[in-house]
Amino acid sequence: MILLLEQQRKKIIEIALRAQNEKLIVLTFGNFSIRDKETGYICVTPSGMNYKELVPEDIVVVDENCNIIDGKRKPSIETPMHCAVYRKRKDVNGIVHTHSSFATAWACCEQDIPCVVAEVAALIGGDIKCAPYRPMGTNELADIVAETIGDNDAVLLAKHGALAVGPDIEIAFTNAVVVEEGAKVAYYAKSIGKLEPIPQEECRALRKATIEKYGQKYNK
Ligand code: 13P
Ligand code: ZN
Repeated sequence: MILLLEQQRKKIIEIALRAQNEKLIVLTFGNFSIRDKETGYICVTPSGMNYKELVPEDIVVVDENCNIIDGKRKPSIETPMHCAVYRKRKDVNGIVHTHSSFATAWACCEQDIPCVVAEVAALIGGDIKCAPYRPMGTNELADIVAETIGDNDAVLLAKHGALAVGPDIEIAFTNAVVVEEGAKVAYYAKSIGKLEPIPQEECRALRKATIEKYGQKYNK
């Protein structure tokens, strides 16, 4: 039998396991999704299941209003948050929500992570803003996260964790790693001396250059 969006469902499991290897999530926390560009459907991890035991059938397919299209499992409690971000950001096709330690430590203090390191400017777009506290799994959290992320590619969730997005799930995953590294470096830098964030204009220039030229896009 053909499974709807089978490749995307497999990819989500692969990314969730990599996030676990990178220690971006513990136990069953965090959640992951991919938007299929053709159908507009969103594949999202099931709620509270051991990532190591997931099979493609466990991934739930929803539309952008959270209606279940396919799958027998209960979708992540944060499905409204994923859907809200996809509705707002048509450029986003992958979302990685983690509870990674250093990013969450900033979020516990309800502080934005100042953009003091080049890769945060280049990939995230500037300071990583902290969305005000709302209880996990609520529409209120979904709304405040979609609003606070703006045009950047990551946001913190007060007293909770972090969310990274990208034009695909690979880039969203990379961004989740960069958020955690940026959070760690900012924490250490703060213990050494005064933080001097990279000016917003410079962040914009670094981001533009990265989108247009970083990697193997132009290898001449
Ligand atoms: P789910 O297991 O329902 O995805 O919830 C985990 C989580 O991180 C809630 O914010
Ligand atoms: Zn969470």
